This record gives sequence, structure tokens and C-alpha cells, in this order.
Amino acid sequence: MKDIRELSFNEISDFLLQYGEKKFRAKQIYEWLWRKGIGSFSEMNNIGQQVQQLLNDNFTFHRASIDVEHKSSDKTTKFGFRLHDNKMIEGVLIPTKERVTACVSTQVGCAMHCAFCATGQMGFIRNLHYSEIFDQYILLNHKSIEYFGQGITNIVYMGMGEPLLNFANVMKSIDLLTTKDGIGLSPQRITLSTAGIIEGIRKLADLDFRPGLAISLHSADPKKRIHIMPVTEHNPLDKLQEAIKYYHEKTGERITFEYLLLNGINDSLRDAEILASYCRPFPVKINLIEFNATDSPFQRSSEENVQKFIQFLESRNMVVNLRRSRGKDIAAACGQLIKNFPSDKGGNSVPLFVLLL
Ligand code: SAH
Repeated sequence: MKDIRELSFNEISDFLLQYGEKKFRAKQIYEWLWRKGIGSFSEMNNIGQQVQQLLNDNFTFHRASIDVEHKSSDKTTKFGFRLHDNKMIEGVLIPTKERVTACVSTQVGCAMHCAFCATGQMGFIRNLHYSEIFDQYILLNHKSIEYFGQGITNIVYMGMGEPLLNFANVMKSIDLLTTKDGIGLSPQRITLSTAGIIEGIRKLADLDFRPGLAISLHSADPKKRIHIMPVTEHNPLDKLQEAIKYYHEKTGERITFEYLLLNGINDSLRDAEILASYCRPFPVKINLIEFNATDSPFQRSSEENVQKFIQFLESRNMVVNLRRSRGKDIAAACGQLIKNFPSDKGGNSVPLFVLLL
């Protein structure tokens, strides 16, 4: 049986007409699905028992559910979602004074194999359907209201997975979250983070309507980057730079780079210099990220190196932010997703390769 949320508005409409139902029913059903974000046919309380039954007899309703949750001492809360096929993914709520940011997953596992990331070590299992990304928002939004007294203000596609390798579902989920017929959020409040998939960045640049883009760079030195981010092999840094240039020319936007500081790996002044020269063709903002412990040989940079790195970039007139991580005590911080969840297996595996730098 097909899942009801596979159907477009017109398909729902055609289905109902076939059974002699009125067209406005399709609108009601579509609203229940995508504006109100309900999770079962029985919640559609203005369409009558008979139509509910008709839907129930003809379609499934694959709704994700919250299975586990861990609250950090800083109130960051990590949720484990169970999908209809029992696969698990994770999402995180990060409250600050004025906002609540939701971090959502786009794939079960990840194919990128970044050496420093826990999700990378579990490998790729499958893409998420757009309704599964949408469900994370809906369920997290309920929790946000319950715990923090306000709904989600910002969404980052920075959980498990590589969003640009699940392009169609990611874009469809953003469409449903931003359209007036759906949740109606502003696309400016949504940011997508990529390990640097060139084709995806170009595709994104060509869209009229797009979320914010952040690129996980972590090193601008090709020899180093390929060791920590194997994605570099098929998405080399020079070609990535061209794609980013294209993105900037098309959109006029400043480029956000995430740069994880790893002790002795990418945190020297020479690394900062290579980064600065890589960024020359476009305006950038560099978000320096503290390393969060995973089962990998890496360590966080010393405070001294961090400060020197920042000073160097600032001396080149670059915009730099140091991002202190949150949710570390519950393994909800960047790169820690899938670690220490009681229900998952394989999250604490040994790194796939030892660095030879
Ligand atoms: N695949 C996407 C989105 C998921 S990762 C991407 O690569 O951007 C979200 C961010 O967390 C990325 O910048 C990633 O490089 C970073 N990250 C991964 N492991 C980390 C760790 N152990 N500590 C801190 N940040 C990490």
C-alpha cells in the first residue's frame, strides 16, 4: 500500500473523486497532512468516519515517533526517532534566549565517512523520505513548545546524513516547511550544511528559492582534506571553489564555512593562511567549531592555537565566529549523533582508518 504522504494534492483529489467525494475534502486532507502535521487518519476530525475509513483501507501512514530522549545540563535535548521500518535517526533541539534551533537528519547514517564524525563511522543506510524530515520538525516543534514555551524558530539540516545527496527529498521537505499551504516558515530560517558536494551546490545556486548554505570545509589543503574528508576525492577543492564562486555570483550571498579545529591537523598558522587564500574569490564567514569527542584519534585544538588562528584570519579582514558546542554531555553535539544511544548498534565502532598525516 502506498503511503498517503506520497500523494500530491491532485492525486488526493483524483482519488476522492473516484469515490464520489467532493473536491474540498482533498483540501481538508492536504491541510491535515502538511499544515497541521497530524500523524494518523483518525485525527482528521472534520472529514467524517467514512472518508477516514476509505483512506485507511487504501493507504498507510508512515509516521516517525520519538523513541528516546536525553536532556543536557545546558537544556540541549537529543531525540531518537524511530521510523516505520524501525531504523533510528536523531534530531536535536538547541534553545537559546531568543530562539530554539532544531537540527534534523536527512539520511539514516551517512556515506561521507568523515574521519572525525561518529555518524560517518556507521556508514550509509538509506535516504529519508521528505515526510520523515517533515516529521522531525513537527515532533520537535511540539517538544519545543512543551519544554521551552515557544516553537522552533530556526532549522538546521545538520543532523545525520549529507543533505545534498538526498537533494529531492530535502528540497521537498523545505518546500513543505516554507509554503503557505504547509508550515509557512521563512526560508531564511533554514540552513543546510554540506560536506561539499559540488553538483548539489551548483543545483542549489540555480534554484529561485533556497535555504541558507553552510559548507563543512575543515581544511583548504587538498592533501590534508582528503584524509579527514574522503568526499574530497570526487569533489576536489579547486572544483569546489569554482562551484562556490558560481553560487556566490548567482545568489550574491556570503559563503559560510564550517571549520573544525583539530589539534595538530588543521590548526596551524600555515593552515589559516591556506584557508585565507582559498576564500579570496568570495566573501565568507568562518564558523570555527570545537571538536567534540568521538571514538577517533582526534583532539581539540589548544586554546592558544584557537586564538592564534582567529587572530590570523581577522588580520585578513575575515569574519570569524567561534562556536562553542552544546549538548556534549549527552552526545548531541555536532559529529556525535548516533553515539551512545541505547537502541543503536555500531555507533561506537573503531575509526575506519588511521590518519597518516
Ligand atoms: N553532512 C553535512 C551535515 C552533517 S554534519 C556536513 O558535512 O556538513 C554537521 C557538522 O558537524 C559538519 O560541519 C561536520 O563536519 C561537523 N562535525 C562532524 N563531526 C564533528 C565532531 N566530532 N565535532 C564537531 N563537529 C563535527
